[in-house]
Amino acid sequence: MAERPRRGDGTRVVHAGLPAPQQGAPFLPGPVLAAPYHLAGDPADEPWQYGRFHNPTWTAYESALGELEDARAVLFASGSAATSALLHELIGPGGVLVAPRDCYYGARWIAAPGIRPRDGELRLVTSETSVLSAAADGASVVWIETPANPTLAVVDVAAVAAAARSSGARVVVDNTVATALGQRPLDLGADVSVVSATKSLAGHADLVLGVLTTRDEGVAAAMLRRRTDMGAVAGPFEAWLAHRSLATLALRLERQSANALAVAGLLAERDEVSNVRYPGLPQDPGHLVAARQMTRYGPLLSFTLPDADHAQRFLTAAELVLEATSFGGVHSTAERRGRWGTDEVPAGLIRFSAGIEDGADLLADVAAALDSAAA
Ligand SMILES: *Cc1c(COP(=O)(O)O)cnc(C)c1O
Repeated sequence: MAERPRRGDGTRVVHAGLPAPQQGAPFLPGPVLAAPYHLAGDPADEPWQYGRFHNPTWTAYESALGELEDARAVLFASGSAATSALLHELIGPGGVLVAPRDCYYGARWIAAPGIRPRDGELRLVTSETSVLSAAADGASVVWIETPANPTLAVVDVAAVAAAARSSGARVVVDNTVATALGQRPLDLGADVSVVSATKSLAGHADLVLGVLTTRDEGVAAAMLRRRTDMGAVAGPFEAWLAHRSLATLALRLERQSANALAVAGLLAERDEVSNVRYPGLPQDPGHLVAARQMTRYGPLLSFTLPDADHAQRFLTAAELVLEATSFGGVHSTAERRGRWGTDEVPAGLIRFSAGIEDGADLLADVAAALDSAAA
């Protein structure tokens, strides 16, 4: 029998994790809300015992995400819960975590108190392929975030993974910004991919979840154990909402990417705007590597206005672009990243997440807000 060609991402996300058709049943079964399940007699071989151990709504979403990356997926209550479980597992006493200085601040904060009690070491380095590759020597784990939030720095995952493999370090990619439809870190040689589903993956600004994927059965089993023991479990309703949202991931990313590229192009033409970063922009310093390892460039970009006041005037003047943190949702959002004090960024740096609005409306709104802020 002829082998069927691999189906496209848009098709795969629509069908991922759905049960086989059954007369009278819904396509995607609703959330199973249970603390205990009926459980009589010897529990040893019973799959459904207690709601912190297992939940069929999690399992369905995990199998969907696993299908997309040909891997095992483990769902957590948040991206931070997944990150902290993973770092506690992979960094033993005396272990060394190498992480980019500009990676998501939460990963840095979790890493610092999380490994210090165990005599581990956190080495912060610049987010550059050559620096991360060189730092792999002597590391237990090299953490990569590409594109990085909020700098949009791009790192060559395959190159760092090759360096790490030869020095015995594991490589984890925070794939939150791209998602599995933007790049496939496990195919590029990473051991584990971590995603805050809160952002683009679920994409509707209505839930907090995290997931990690790996082809290492030992790591997958350890993550399930830690999730159960530490109790960082997802609510079944959030898991169901995220699974429901997965069907439109390709559609959303396509529109978001087109809008983001158009906004980045508009920004690049403006005199008052500097350092526009978007991996899909041909003149972006990360574009060549991004073009090699990414299939969609996603919603996120950043740019710098002359100062904090100017940036705030822009945010206030925009009507369609909601001023809020987080990113990747169907609504365009932006914030002055420096307002948190957590990232080493210029005061006028704006992190911008393109939504799925009509591109012409979004461009007009951004242009009008820039004009108003400059006046
Ligand atoms: C938001 C975010 C996280 C943390 O995810 P939560 O779901 O908020 O815990 C981790 N990494 C990146 C890149 C993020 O943007």
